[in-house]
Amino acid sequence: MGKSSEMINDGKYQSIAQYPTHLIAKIFENVSEGIMVTNKDKMIINVNPAFEFVTGYKANEVLGKNPSVLQSGLHEVSFYINMWKTIYEKGIWQGEIWNRRKTGDIYPEWLTIMAIRDDEGNITNFCGIFTDLSEQKVVESELEKRTMMDSLTDVNNRFTYLDRMNALLEASASMTTEVSHAVFFLDLDRFKQVNDTLGHATGDLLLVEVARRIKKLLRNKDILARYGGDEFIITLTNINHPREAAAFAEQLIRCIEQPMSVNEHEVFVSTSVGVSIFPEDGAQTDDLIIKADKAMNYAKANGRNSYAFYFDELNIDSKRMLVLDAELRKAIENKDFTLHYQPKIDIKTSKVIGVEALVRWHSDKLGHVSPGEFIPYAEETGLIIPMSELIFEMACLGYRELAVQGFPDVPVAVNISSIHFQQNTFIDKIQEILQHTNTSAQNFEIEMTERTVMNSARETTSKLVRLKQLGFKLSIDDFGTGYSSLSYLVRFPLDILKIDRSFIQQIVSLDDKQAVVDAIIQMSHRLKMKVVAEGVETEQQVKVLKNMGCDIVQGYYYSKPLPMDELIDFLHLWEVEYQGRI
Ligand code: C2E
Ligand code: CA
Ligand code: CA
Repeated sequence: MGKSSEMINDGKYQSIAQYPTHLIAKIFENVSEGIMVTNKDKMIINVNPAFEFVTGYKANEVLGKNPSVLQSGLHEVSFYINMWKTIYEKGIWQGEIWNRRKTGDIYPEWLTIMAIRDDEGNITNFCGIFTDLSEQKVVESELEKRTMMDSLTDVNNRFTYLDRMNALLEASASMTTEVSHAVFFLDLDRFKQVNDTLGHATGDLLLVEVARRIKKLLRNKDILARYGGDEFIITLTNINHPREAAAFAEQLIRCIEQPMSVNEHEVFVSTSVGVSIFPEDGAQTDDLIIKADKAMNYAKANGRNSYAFYFDELNIDSKRMLVLDAELRKAIENKDFTLHYQPKIDIKTSKVIGVEALVRWHSDKLGHVSPGEFIPYAEETGLIIPMSELIFEMACLGYRELAVQGFPDVPVAVNISSIHFQQNTFIDKIQEILQHTNTSAQNFEIEMTERTVMNSARETTSKLVRLKQLGFKLSIDDFGTGYSSLSYLVRFPLDILKIDRSFIQQIVSLDDKQAVVDAIIQMSHRLKMKVVAEGVETEQQVKVLKNMGCDIVQGYYYSKPLPMDELIDFLHLWEVEYQGRI
């Protein structure tokens, strides 16, 4: 006591017992905590304004009554018994309690009840002091929701997913009849590119939109979570047949590939989906996720925008992926690629009016790897940028060789990946390459897919205009496989449109394909674009295309892509034997 009595003595501190009653009354009137005082028989004898405010009862409505008027009915009798036991034994009880307001609303409060004793130690009064917690509870439940949910997309986060899956699988295992569930692992294709070129804010909005679209496809009992970055995971519960899972995967892909408009950008994303099935592929959540993930990687490596079911050989495939990665990096460093060139022929004059450069890679460990496999992988990992620069340089040197061999008017078309195109330094870099290989843009054509052009249209237009000003011819590749409408393409300064091989393949057998190709050709001509038919393999196809007024043909019917020396032989031979004759 020594210290505190000294404090009182120095006049700065005063025991509350020494407060004048009017000061205590002031505090009683003005604190924000509700205060209720009873006599020893627990009859309410005093309440403060905060009590009236929180409970909704006026003082005169509760004076003389038992505090049980406030009871919510939510607590069991034993709860109150324990509470009073504590008060009698320890003199004080504190805890959270649900009470009822006059309006009937139930609310949580933080309550302290004290027993007040006289000098002999007999209880004279009880005093309850409480704080309304209802607002705090709202915040807490929001917080709880946040830690269970992904705050960006408002779907479950991975932890909640794991919990729910574990519960689901446990319940399923104990059932007498066998139930089946399908797990889908989803990864957006080239999401990094969206983030890098349009900014993270746009990337975020895109994820929100993706989550919204997926939600629409689900039933209540299905589970959706954002697994991380651009990955989502879904469980379709109680499926009857894997066919249902296949149909759902198909639906997922279709709903995500629809163009999204975010932040005034029209963005195209596609997704790769891997599927694993409980219980066939695994009885545990982890196992099912790993297998669905593997299947997803397989789908991605096989051209993206598709789905795959897990199968046992996938374990081997992921080893190939590791080797591919290491080999590709090595090849870039050692410039281990070559180019083959495929001639393009003017359908009217049968002159070779250009060649397309196509990359070829032979790896020591993997043998010949097709660009259909390693280009998508390089795009996913960013390796495409150094590789693409290398290819452009090789194509420049290829053109020089052609010129030296007597074919200076055969331009070389180079395929440019959208990842490379969207680099800010893209144009500077290729200008640099032109300069040091001593070639000029007039001798080159740039082939880009629809997706490249359609993504982030605003930046695209100015880049295309600059390329055009430099002297490049611009062509749109694989036309018909994306979503662009011809009228949309008017905005861009394009010279050439290449109709995808899939249309040409069926042009003889399917009338509707013929009608589509015919329409594309007519429209392109109106827009002052020349039309190339890709993948021409038969004479019949050439005839049909000629009748439709197609300008240029390219395909195995004329020649496969050739190494430079064979190309030169081909060009000489062609001039002598065929030009002007077929
Ligand atoms: P693409 O640009 O559409 O190239 C045409 C593909 O069709 C080439 O396959 C070519 O060999 C093949 N092809 C040509 N005529 C016929 C035909 O009559 N029948 C059939 N069945 N196929 C024919 P390749 O060389 O395997 O290239 C596949 C894809 O890989 C290319 O499609 C292109 O998207 C990409 N690619 C190839 N080289 C490069 C490159 O240097 N850079 C970039 N960024 N991508 C490349
Ligand atoms: Ca091409
Ligand atoms: Ca093509």
